[in-house]
Amino acid sequence: MHCPFCSATETKVIDSRLVSDGHQVRRRRECLECRERYTTFETAELVMPRIIKRDGSREPFNEDKLRSGLLRSLEKRPVSTEQTELSINKLKSQLRATGEREVSSEMLGNIIMEQLKLLDKVAYVRFASVYRSFEDIREFGEEIARLGD
Ligand SMILES: [Zn+2]
Repeated sequence: MHCPFCSATETKVIDSRLVSDGHQVRRRRECLECRERYTTFETAELVMPRIIKRDGSREPFNEDKLRSGLLRSLEKRPVSTEQTELSINKLKSQLRATGEREVSSEMLGNIIMEQLKLLDKVAYVRFASVYRSFEDIREFGEEIARLGD
C-alpha cells in the first residue's frame, strides 16, 4: 500500500471497517513517513484469506467472530480493550502476511493461541481448552505446566 502523497510503503491503519455488506474494507491510514492520512477501499477477500473449515467448506474471515471468541476467553481478565484490539490487529497482520488466499481453521487457531499466550495466560488456557478439546486432563496439565517457562 503506497502513500498517495509521498509513495512511502510504511503506513499505519488507524481505522478499519467493513462496508457494502462486508465485501469491502474501508481503511483510514496514516503514512509513517509524511504523516498524511488517507482512505482506502479494499476488496475484503484480497485483504484477508478465507478460512478452510475442518469439513473442507470455506468461509470468509469474520473479525466479529474472532473478537467475541477472544473476549469470551478474556472475561474478567485484567486486559484492556486497547490491548485486545492490538492483538486482533496483530492477528490479522499475521494472517495477511501468510500471503495465502485461504488458510486452515487450524492455522487460524494456532495464530490466535500465540497471540493469547502473549496477552494473558489464563485466557490462553481457556481458549486452548475449548479449541483443542484436550484429549485428557493430563495433556491439559502439561500445557499449563509449559506456560511456566
Ligand atoms: Zn506519505
